[in-house]
Amino acid sequence: MNKLIMLLVVFLSLGLVITSGCVDNQEVSASSDKPIVAVSILPQAEFVEKVAGDQVQVLVMVPPGADPHTYEITSGQLRDLSKAQMYVKVGSGLDFENVWMDRLIAQNPDMLIVDSSSGIKLKAMEAHSHNDEEHDEEGRDEENHDEEDEGGDHANETGGKDPHIWTSPMEAKIMVNNTYSGLVEIDPDNRELYAQNRDAYLAELDAADAIIRETLAGKEGSSFMVYHPSWGYFADEYGLVEVSVEMEGKEPSAKDMQHLIDTAKEKNITVIFVQPGFSATSAKSIASEINAEVVAVDPLAKDYIDNLAKVSEAFEKGLA
Ligand SMILES: [Zn+2]
Repeated sequence: MNKLIMLLVVFLSLGLVITSGCVDNQEVSASSDKPIVAVSILPQAEFVEKVAGDQVQVLVMVPPGADPHTYEITSGQLRDLSKAQMYVKVGSGLDFENVWMDRLIAQNPDMLIVDSSSGIKLKAMEAHSHNDEEHDEEGRDEENHDEEDEGGDHANETGGKDPHIWTSPMEAKIMVNNTYSGLVEIDPDNRELYAQNRDAYLAELDAADAIIRETLAGKEGSSFMVYHPSWGYFADEYGLVEVSVEMEGKEPSAKDMQHLIDTAKEKNITVIFVQPGFSATSAKSIASEINAEVVAVDPLAKDYIDNLAKVSEAFEKGLA
């Protein structure tokens, strides 16, 4: 019975996502007096909208299809940003924020900065065959996290912590809670509405988690191969092993490629996952060596819950 209700909640929410998402239209309306909330990536826009409804305008810095590791902000975006009351950063050491956050704050020093990763334990980027000895020790996570927040050292995605926290719906719940706290700070009059919306969305995330667990039941310990390692937190949450083609943010060397092909053969991998905005060349050449399929999954889709359901189905077919 409970499960039925949860399913219903998920389906209802899917309907809402389809009818509401208007983030593609980046322009912030000048006539509206609603507070402007800026975020780095699309899943965060979803989180803000789920909690705030139409009480705020959302400004997304990295637009659909762009790569948050290399995206360059436009002057129009900077102009819009100067009107924002709050900026919710991912906060986990995403390249985009490492490079841009200081300039964004300089553009609008008065906006409230919310760190959506606050309370999330960052995981180390998975170790690769050629640099096992450099692998960070466990237990340093918390301290490193704070340092990376300052954006001071540019360790970013190479050899540091894995910034892709949002790909686990359980980490997403923490991000949603942090987003909620920020919204209440800039708009205390709507505290109650935001609390209700937050609770409803947290329940949807729990329902999504239950569905993913069902989809992946019995697959614990299985591996999937991806070009860019965006899914480490998802993998950890559901007991899967992410095997990355990209090495430390770079194309694999010839030696790495051979190692990957051997691993893929050994594990019987039949699918290599790629994501929009990234080269699929090396994924394709490994795929042709092992007769695997190349399938696209998007870690940055705005319709967060619907997308995760699709992704877990795709992973389920590609697990080995
Ligand atoms: Zn990434």
